[in-house]
Amino acid sequence: MSNQNKELSFFEGVGYYFDNASKHVDIDEGLLALIKECNNVLRLKFPIKDENGKVRVFEAYRVQHSHHRMPTKGGIRYSTHIDQEEVMALASLMTYKCALVDVPFGGAKGGIKIDSKNETPEVVEKVTRRYTTELIKKNFIGPGLDVPAPDYGSGEREMAWIVDTYLTLNNGMIDGLGCVTGKPVSLGGVKGRTEATGRGVAYGLKEVFSFEEDMAKIGLTTGLKDKSVVVQGLGNVGYYSALFMQEYGCKVISIAEYEGAIYNENGLDVKEVFNHRKATGSILNFPGATNLSKSGDALELECDILIPAALENQITVDNMERIKAKVIGEAANGPVTAQASEYLAKKGIMVIPDIYLNAGGVTVSYFEWLKNLSHVRFGRIQKKHEEERNDLIANLLEKMTGKKMDDMERNVLSKGAEEIDLVNSGLAETMAKAYHGIREVWVNSNGKFDMRTAAFVLAISKVGSDYKSMGIWP
Ligand code: GLU
Repeated sequence: MSNQNKELSFFEGVGYYFDNASKHVDIDEGLLALIKECNNVLRLKFPIKDENGKVRVFEAYRVQHSHHRMPTKGGIRYSTHIDQEEVMALASLMTYKCALVDVPFGGAKGGIKIDSKNETPEVVEKVTRRYTTELIKKNFIGPGLDVPAPDYGSGEREMAWIVDTYLTLNNGMIDGLGCVTGKPVSLGGVKGRTEATGRGVAYGLKEVFSFEEDMAKIGLTTGLKDKSVVVQGLGNVGYYSALFMQEYGCKVISIAEYEGAIYNENGLDVKEVFNHRKATGSILNFPGATNLSKSGDALELECDILIPAALENQITVDNMERIKAKVIGEAANGPVTAQASEYLAKKGIMVIPDIYLNAGGVTVSYFEWLKNLSHVRFGRIQKKHEEERNDLIANLLEKMTGKKMDDMERNVLSKGAEEIDLVNSGLAETMAKAYHGIREVWVNSNGKFDMRTAAFVLAISKVGSDYKSMGIWP
């Protein structure tokens, strides 16, 4: 890094990763320059009138990083901290993320400068609908153009307002439901999307922990059972990551939120912690757990796996030397700064990069979009047929073995796949396959670069080969 004393910004960090990885890909310089840049950057200012009749002006963004595949795709962040560079960085990460998990979209991201928790739902709704209208006017939204989704500070509620606004202004558009993902299931959403990012994190880490030689290098056994886990953030991604890690047999020893952190060496019950925070308004004072004085203390605990699942720039030059985790699973986007990431990798800590590990959300968004375009729920057409065939096989098995199955065995064997089964198995397969690809590049580098660089090398190569197949580039 050029200046050791100055930490790179999130946006600069993404550029730094790109440049680093570019040295290891065989792609024309001009094409690399094209891939790196954000293609379209839209900055908006728009007014809304609040309940008191006061006119308020909001600032918002939509950035489309790459059009090598269409539509472009990425969430909308609702936060007072957003700025153009942050949205550009996040849009770039979306391109690489989609490429890694073979989701055929270009990357995009949106941001609205709003403190939605402290605004009335009426204001958030007006802002969301106005933002959507602005995107429509500028051709920045549509099932084949650009498809937003939830991100930090937004969820199903906002996605419902977006699709409703879009359909109102595009009455009769047959594929209109595919203009946004992360919608409520009753409004064209897909089962499993809400928990998809967290589920993807757990699937990804399960894969990471299945390689004996990698685990031996960091002094761990294979498998997630009994591994100690620290999670930062109890929002959608953090909560579901923690929950699924617990389901895999991990001990979630600490959870941090902005008001503080709690610790119990024997493991916390994730659901109960969530309910406690909902009931009391704070994660602190959870029965049986110790309060940690600062939220950031949780990051520095001794543990097998640290999962930062909040925002960017959480592990920096300031705390990197005190990190004791053996594996860091980046569930958030950009939680480790570029400088800290290099330091940790050199120290032998496995940093599983965000562009891979949190790709479960966009993967299931892709499934939702496919469902919207096909106008049919996954499993609807084949489920009964599958069950009838499975029943025939079960009957045959009973006949051949002379043994009768009990009801549970019969059920397991006969059951046809529901939408949620197909979504989860598609996600599991995607996360496993993508990890194998990244790991191969990483292992083949013979220690030349870390796993993040490997992920960038693979992603850039994939985007580059898409461009090359258009026949424009050498
Ligand atoms: N906001 C999520 C992300 O950063 C999901 C994006 C999407 O589903 O399009 O990956």
